[in-house]
Amino acid sequence: MNIHEYQGKELLKKYGVRIQEGIVAETADAAVAAANKLNAETGTSWYVIKAQIHAGGRGKGGGVKLAKNIDQVKEIAGQIIGMQLVTKQTGAEGKKVHKVLVAQDVYYPGASPTKEFYACILMDRAKSQNVIIVSTEGGMEIEEVAEHTPEKIIKEWVDPRVGLQAYQVRNLVFQLGLSGEAFKEMVKFITNLYKAYDDSDAAMIEINPALKTSDDKIVAVDAKVAFDDNALYRHKDLAALRDLTEEDPLEVEATASDLNYVKLDGNVGCMVNGAGLAMATMDIIKISGGEPANFLDVGGGANAKTVEAGFRIILKDPNVKAILINVFGGIVRCDRVANGVVEAYKNIGDIKVPIIVRLQGTNAEEGAEIINKSGLKVFSAIALKDAATKVKEVLAA
Ligand code: GDP
Ligand code: MN
Repeated sequence: MNIHEYQGKELLKKYGVRIQEGIVAETADAAVAAANKLNAETGTSWYVIKAQIHAGGRGKGGGVKLAKNIDQVKEIAGQIIGMQLVTKQTGAEGKKVHKVLVAQDVYYPGASPTKEFYACILMDRAKSQNVIIVSTEGGMEIEEVAEHTPEKIIKEWVDPRVGLQAYQVRNLVFQLGLSGEAFKEMVKFITNLYKAYDDSDAAMIEINPALKTSDDKIVAVDAKVAFDDNALYRHKDLAALRDLTEEDPLEVEATASDLNYVKLDGNVGCMVNGAGLAMATMDIIKISGGEPANFLDVGGGANAKTVEAGFRIILKDPNVKAILINVFGGIVRCDRVANGVVEAYKNIGDIKVPIIVRLQGTNAEEGAEIINKSGLKVFSAIALKDAATKVKEVLAA
């Protein structure tokens, strides 16, 4: 689960990470009030207006702008709120901006210049360890840095048996070329960042840029925070930060029905019980010349209700030209699933796309018979190969 920059910063602040202070606003007038409050609290008279959407690259897309007085705050906030912001990460259709963060300007000219760094913590799946990544090339796209100047990407892996060690943090900061006050600040910054990551079961915390200000403080200017969904049950406060308007509506609907659904770009919808079988089914669709329109795992206890909910979600995707249901009857019996399919089909009514149902396992033959006798535009298959052939046929028809 992703959260907004302003929410990420609030979380980090609780862990002693220095942040660019800001106040979130949903209207231009609220942005003005926020700027005035920020002026009273921090003394800043320049402000950065930052679109709050779940995507990076906002600066380049025109979603981050500097305001040098209150009139500009009102004008810029008015422009950004309600805009359809297109960035490298949103896709061509962009994302609607509902809120802006009115933040203090932290790049004010001082005695010595500012410098942008990069810091990120995430799980390295290949090593089964958390990894801390830092770079002197902050403010840039880190993928580009990694591709062209990989030597500028510095990493430390955290052994889960002993946790993050102080020397590892010093090692990272030393390689960033920092010294004196800035060195100490960055050590504190990374240590606290890691604590926040660990405590909240985060999947990623990325700070780009982490700014060294003209007075040698390290400040999180941006914050991209994502949590491990499987751990959210033990963080009710963090789970409450979810913003459904940022998520795919079909995925939101699926979560409400306890379905594990991920929307994809293809033309064959699939409904499967079990994640491994779902992966195999997607392969079968590809081999048959189709492209999966989604990943959908209805779980072990598939019944008429879950099948119907799954059907409805798949059918809302206009790209779907056929549906492949592939269920292995283990705990759930195939005849029950077959009845569920027939019932759901009748309940929804007016289904135009062909449906191929492949049932294998307990009572597979009874299941196939129910499908075949239903009189619906549903094709049954027992062998996976037959299912693949049928997908090919209906796509060609
Ligand atoms: P992103 O583009 O979505 O990654 O959003 P960021 O929060 O990283 O902001 C984009 C860019 O805006 C940063 O890289 C900075 O160059 C700039 N920016 C952010 N905060 C300030 C600020 O306080 N003052 C000035 N002058 N620029 C800022
Ligand atoms: Mn950024």
